[in-house]
Amino acid sequence: MQPKIVVVGSSNTDMVVRLPRLPNRGESIIGGDFVMPAGGKGANQAVAAARLGAQVTFVARLGQDVFGDRALTGFRSEGIVTDFIVRDPEAPSGVALILVDSRGDNMLAVAPGANARLSPDDVQRAADAITTADAVVLQMEIPPDTVHYALDLAHKHGVLTVLNPAPARALPPEVLSLVDVLTPNEHEATLLSGDVGQNIEQAAQHLVNMGVGTVVVTLGEKGALIVEKHKYMRLVPAFPVTAVDTTAAGDAFTAALAVALARGDEIGAAVRFANAVGALTVTKMGAQPSLPTAAEVQAFLAQA
Ligand code: ADP
Repeated sequence: MQPKIVVVGSSNTDMVVRLPRLPNRGESIIGGDFVMPAGGKGANQAVAAARLGAQVTFVARLGQDVFGDRALTGFRSEGIVTDFIVRDPEAPSGVALILVDSRGDNMLAVAPGANARLSPDDVQRAADAITTADAVVLQMEIPPDTVHYALDLAHKHGVLTVLNPAPARALPPEVLSLVDVLTPNEHEATLLSGDVGQNIEQAAQHLVNMGVGTVVVTLGEKGALIVEKHKYMRLVPAFPVTAVDTTAAGDAFTAALAVALARGDEIGAAVRFANAVGALTVTKMGAQPSLPTAAEVQAFLAQA
């Protein structure tokens, strides 16, 4: 079965200059390399799910500019349904200006542009796709009201909701209780649970007590921790790989988890699959260029 996934979220163009070192205030450093990979958490998740074999519909806003044209062409070449991508007449496409030094330290400036104008009405226009999907996937680079509206719509229709709470921002219990699967990293889990000095296990348990169905805390090279109500916690270890660039690892993980759950995998197997996808993503540079295909994941799992 090809799972049907709707991703509601952001799309950015990452403009990356690699330099020997980061500039000081007012300083120019000449001699960098420039690359412009497609990014944005929503777009990364949509592309990740499509490469893993899901039928993906992406709900987003792009500007009427060259970056929007390029993003749209990219989504179509991945086989993503783009019927609910709005071309905003007033705001530019989202961009992130990124400087990276030889040690991998970076500086980022993000202009959300049209992403900040993705509205509940935009989500409502995609209601037929959302209410007939196997899973709806969200992150938080779009307005909070839009996230809430999409969660509510999916939840009312019994559609699995998966929220990657990044970038970290506090969420009220009425929003958390609409989330079937929440995928924070350690920092996000701590912040969302109120940051009252507890460890990661306690923070995740607190989120379950606040109404989240299942919390899966991503732990980087350690793997991921599954926390459910009235069940023992489970740590699913990561696959050992040599990490080159961790950009989009969390996005890839969340998309993979949604695809696996949507096709009916049990949570432990789904997290193992998502760990494999996360591991493959960190072995390559860039956001979308590093996202693996279903065949690559299958080959990786066969020899793991
Ligand atoms: P984020 O990038 O959102 O902070 P993490 O760093 O926790 O998220 O990474 C998400 C997932 O990607 C991890 O749970 C793991 O499955 C995988 N991953 C990340 N870094 C590594 C690594 N160095 N080795 C193997 N897997 C990794």
